[in-house]
Amino acid sequence: MAVDGERMRATWEAMAAIGATPAGGITRLALSDVDKLGRDAFVGWCREAGLDVRVDDIGNIAGWRAGDDPKALPVVCGSHLDSVARGGNYDGVLGVLAGLEVARTLDDRGVRTRRPFVVMSFTNEEGVRFQPPMMCSGMLAGAFTREAIDDVQDSAGQRFGDELDRIGYRGERRNRLDRLHAYFELHIEQGPVLEANDLAVGVVTMIQGLRRARVRFTGSNNHAGTTPMDARRDAFMATAAFALEARSMVRDFPPGMLTIGRVVLDPGLPTVIPEFAECSLDIRHPNDGALATMLARAETIANDVACREKCSVDFAPFWHSPPTPFAPELIECIAAAAQRQAVPTMRLYSGAGHDAKYMADLAPTAMIFVRTRAGRSHCEDEYARWEDCVVATSMLYDVVAETAGARAEVPA
Ligand SMILES: [Zn+2]
Repeated sequence: MAVDGERMRATWEAMAAIGATPAGGITRLALSDVDKLGRDAFVGWCREAGLDVRVDDIGNIAGWRAGDDPKALPVVCGSHLDSVARGGNYDGVLGVLAGLEVARTLDDRGVRTRRPFVVMSFTNEEGVRFQPPMMCSGMLAGAFTREAIDDVQDSAGQRFGDELDRIGYRGERRNRLDRLHAYFELHIEQGPVLEANDLAVGVVTMIQGLRRARVRFTGSNNHAGTTPMDARRDAFMATAAFALEARSMVRDFPPGMLTIGRVVLDPGLPTVIPEFAECSLDIRHPNDGALATMLARAETIANDVACREKCSVDFAPFWHSPPTPFAPELIECIAAAAQRQAVPTMRLYSGAGHDAKYMADLAPTAMIFVRTRAGRSHCEDEYARWEDCVVATSMLYDVVAETAGARAEVPA
């Protein structure tokens, strides 16, 4: 194995203690005091590894290892150190610490690279405290402005910008890492595919697309005890019928997914037929055409159901994130590294979003997935076998060395 799994584990355990929950998970919300402690630890490790730490104006932290060609664009490995509330110790943090281990291993082996190598920790990937997710890789890619990000408030009314200043991680605009040669992200799969295939590691080919809509049915509020069933215009029953029919429609588009995660009824009283019912709609698919068709069919279903239930409906799509294909040459590079190290892999797509999604707008990008137990993530029993993490990190080392132009290697 190229990398030092024990050293990496010690670092990972130290990070896992920062924001640890009694049930063995982590709560490290973006720009909290705990996030600051995690950042401080990471910055300290970067400096110990001889990396030049550069923080940009929204708190993204980059640890630079110089290359021989000062003009060459860097190869970057990144992910995030923030977590959801009562989350796990692998999502995000594994990718950041794997990048750090790659830098340490390059030093161990006396490897110089033509290009600089950068380990990156993005601010607020999770979008739990400050929405949306992947906000700060998104800013690098031009999806959001710094001004807009600074003004985002958490549920307590605290501004992102004020909290960033408070924890002391407002860096400089000139440190924005928006020009790079290649981006790699190692991450747990957060799904069941690798485990089902009995594989430790997967090569990620793309991130699936996503569309969201707000669906609002309007009926008529009336008395629960006096209004005959046939005389009702019940906005909730329209929503319920819509949900079930939309779910069976989506089953015609495998591996498409549909989620209605939120329903709000108005007036929302046990004795009143609801006049308004608004639900969220989240649909995902790796194929953008299929995604568009699914959305159109969902709208047709909403209209049909509204008609049947004597309601009206407002179907309002508001978010489209097309599928993000990764760079074929980097996918091949990862697959070749796996082959050299005799690691069996498969190719799969990512069901979840990652900072890699936005970085792919800036440079060729690819990801390595690590098997996750029972597909569990964003929870305290999120778990990956350490051997699997080390195998994936070793592959990451290999692809970084190749992509950054490794020049000399002292036999270990
Ligand atoms: Zn993540």
